[in-house]
Amino acid sequence: MKCPTCGAWTSVKQTTNSPTFGHMRRRECANEHRFTTKEVAIPQEEIDEERRKHLANNKKRLESIRESRPKSVRKSKARVY
Ligand SMILES: [Zn+2]
Repeated sequence: MKCPTCGAWTSVKQTTNSPTFGHMRRRECANEHRFTTKEVAIPQEEIDEERRKHLANNKKRLESIRESRPKSVRKSKARVY
């Protein structure tokens, strides 16, 4: 994950299991900013909602690409003489 201070990629320095926070990771970025993250389970409903939004976005993007395609690209029927 990226550093919340400067946006650089981080590496995990230490992983611990705390009774209060669960799985915790001590991270450090290339600029030596340090912070801690914790791992939490995501409810399935939130994952489904995210997937639905992603698919709707993709559909919109594909439709806008189709509409912007010039007519000359479309195939016309070949004539036989
Ligand atoms: Zn940083």
